[in-house]
Amino acid sequence: MVLSVFVTSGKIVGMIEKTTLFKILITLLACVSLIFVAYRVCVRLNVNVNTNSGEKDAEKVSKNEGQNTDLYEVSPISDYPEVGERPVCNVKTSEKIISLSFDDGYNYENTKKIVDILKKNGNLKATFFFCGNAIDSDIKSAKIQNRENSVELVHNAGHEIANHSNSHPNFKKLTKEKMEKEIESCNKKIQNITGKRPVLFRFPYGSHNKESVGVVKKLNMYPVDWNIDTLDWNKKSSCDSICSSICKGYKTGNVSYPHPGSIVLMHTTGKYTPEALEIIIPVLLKGGYKIVTVSDLVLSASDKGANNK
Ligand SMILES: [Zn+2]
Repeated sequence: MVLSVFVTSGKIVGMIEKTTLFKILITLLACVSLIFVAYRVCVRLNVNVNTNSGEKDAEKVSKNEGQNTDLYEVSPISDYPEVGERPVCNVKTSEKIISLSFDDGYNYENTKKIVDILKKNGNLKATFFFCGNAIDSDIKSAKIQNRENSVELVHNAGHEIANHSNSHPNFKKLTKEKMEKEIESCNKKIQNITGKRPVLFRFPYGSHNKESVGVVKKLNMYPVDWNIDTLDWNKKSSCDSICSSICKGYKTGNVSYPHPGSIVLMHTTGKYTPEALEIIIPVLLKGGYKIVTVSDLVLSASDKGANNK
């Protein structure tokens, strides 16, 4: 069989002139080369198209999903108004603008409720003062429960993250070195999660003196107190007592609203804090109040001067 084909081929080859055979071979070779080049080009194009519209786009999407444009932008300390020997507890302004601040950072479930209520009421922004120890314990629980940690929750929701020391000590009893350690240790823990060093610092128990305020300022941070204490941490507090501390007569038509420029102190651990927020935020909004972060409050009133206790 093979032999007969070979013989037949030989006969055919013999019938064709050698020059013609050469031309056919060259043409065939050119065609094969052309097809091969075309194939390579197509394969290359395909790879590029797939990479651009496929993998790379998928990569972009996942990156965009990870990026939250709502994240709170920390302003440089140079933007803040001068602060004296005491932390800022409110600002002078005639604008109906106030801040809600939440201390300590313990209790993820409560923190989540607070974040949800702020979002539900028009994506309001607040300031959360975290303790370093609260961050540590929450990170451990978050790993066990396979969830985000509290700082991530608050940061990703666009709120301001601030420093409330590492272990919540009384700053009046600390050496300057220990004060610095307390503040910087908490800063690092926050920065490890958010990538940003906080600007605001709140003394535990509001306990401070000239020396401790000096340390905060030396670290390029801004000391902040409050002028409305809801006492929501106290076991004797109730939803009604918390609401009344912010807006007296909130149940009646004769509501007594807080001074414009006020800073309200609350806690992430407050048993009735979420419940009270559900009631009092709509009251404040109805009264024409704008609710902003503590930094935004201080920065908005920078030309009017910050007020101290
Ligand atoms: Zn505290």
